[in-house]
Amino acid sequence: MKYCNHRRSASTNANSLPCSSIWTAMKKGMGTFNKGCRWLVTKNSTLNIWHNNWTNGGPLRKLIQGPISQEANLLEIKDIMLDVGWDWEKTTFELPDEVKGLICAIPLSTLGGGSDKLAWAGSPNGSFDVKSAYGFAMEDANEIVFSASWIWKADLLPKVKMFLWLCAHNSIGVKVCLGRRGVVQDEVCPVCCNGAETILHPLRDCSHLKHIWNQLGVTASNYDFWHANLVDWLSLNIRKNEELHVTGAPWKIVFPFALWSIWKSRNDIVFSRNGCHQNLVVDIVNQAMEYLHCVAVPRMQGRRVLRRIRWERPVQGWKKLNTDGACSEINGLAGCGGVVRNDDGQWIVGFSKRIGITNSFAAELWGLREGLKLCCNMNIHCLVVEMDAKAIVDVLRNANYNSNIISPILDDYRQLLSRFHQVIINHCFRQANQCADGLARMSFRLTADFLIYDSPPVDILDVFEGDLNGMYFNRICPELCSEA
Ligand SMILES: [Zn+2]
Repeated sequence: MKYCNHRRSASTNANSLPCSSIWTAMKKGMGTFNKGCRWLVTKNSTLNIWHNNWTNGGPLRKLIQGPISQEANLLEIKDIMLDVGWDWEKTTFELPDEVKGLICAIPLSTLGGGSDKLAWAGSPNGSFDVKSAYGFAMEDANEIVFSASWIWKADLLPKVKMFLWLCAHNSIGVKVCLGRRGVVQDEVCPVCCNGAETILHPLRDCSHLKHIWNQLGVTASNYDFWHANLVDWLSLNIRKNEELHVTGAPWKIVFPFALWSIWKSRNDIVFSRNGCHQNLVVDIVNQAMEYLHCVAVPRMQGRRVLRRIRWERPVQGWKKLNTDGACSEINGLAGCGGVVRNDDGQWIVGFSKRIGITNSFAAELWGLREGLKLCCNMNIHCLVVEMDAKAIVDVLRNANYNSNIISPILDDYRQLLSRFHQVIINHCFRQANQCADGLARMSFRLTADFLIYDSPPVDILDVFEGDLNGMYFNRICPELCSEA
């Protein structure tokens, strides 16, 4: 590539050499790229333990204080990897527990080999996303946090949302904004010729608007309304407003329609398309009422229903595996657990496993892999698997999902599946997965890394018997929910 040639890299001051705007942007983004890149390691990895980014906590050197001996400094990942677990002796000094926790939680493939891959560190599943990249890029910048992101969550028509967003970013076509860009010279309001045309002026302060706002119910003595700055004014009237208009429509619905109509009508006046709008207030109220009855109310009603949920037995001859993952809120330690039951709902086997420091997304997958291994070893042929993490089930059903932080576990998962005659993976609600949840939480108190239960442990006995007796739980669900 033109920019990576020898002459350039040998230059003492490569940054001052001329380059295209694309290359300038790439250089600027390099720091963000490096921060966001993370290695997915394999058993043969020759990456450096301390300086490469291969754990959930970033490069380990940042977590270790004090000097590291020259010998230890050269350690590669394969040097500390054993067939079962990690060789802590090699590091020549005792690693802190949280570092061990991070290393233990690296999802290594236990079945296959493969080579190291790069993934994106900003998202739990390792796929690149712009939001986390923006977060990495902004870590060092002292930008003022924009305070009007609530606009996207407000109950408004999309075109009105867009308009408010532009207002809050000082980006609509009023003269003050245009003047800042050098488009116009004078900034005086073309309608009242009295005062600069800021964003607030054509929406609230222009002389003829007082009358319109009064008709909509805003009194002249409402100090907050008439004196708030733009972003506060929008927030005060849309976000923090429980008042009702005389028609009974919420003010937070009438107000944005008023802004939108006032702005449109003003454009008509300024560009003399139609002249002054005669029934503006009636029009605003009608639009708000139409929105209230056709969009807002139907959305509030009937969207959620109460459903009765329970753990269901598998069909005759099948076994059911429920798995779950859990993260401790106290120390971030994750664990997983699972239970296999027969078509009478009777306990066959259960397990709890400590993982280390990782997120719940990965913990769920660890649980699935352990559960499947257990079922394989027991020669179970027809298996239904249930998990309460919808995101995981979606990932498992997507054969193209690859190259990410959890891919070693996914590779194992696909290999394990081929050892069964039939496997069905289903999503279930949390209420139907309480045994697995309990077993996953029990991992926090384990003294061993892995524990098998031949009968239900006492901690989850109540939940197990509830499942066995077909006990129902109520849950508010979306009406159009397809998952049983
Ligand atoms: Zn004016």
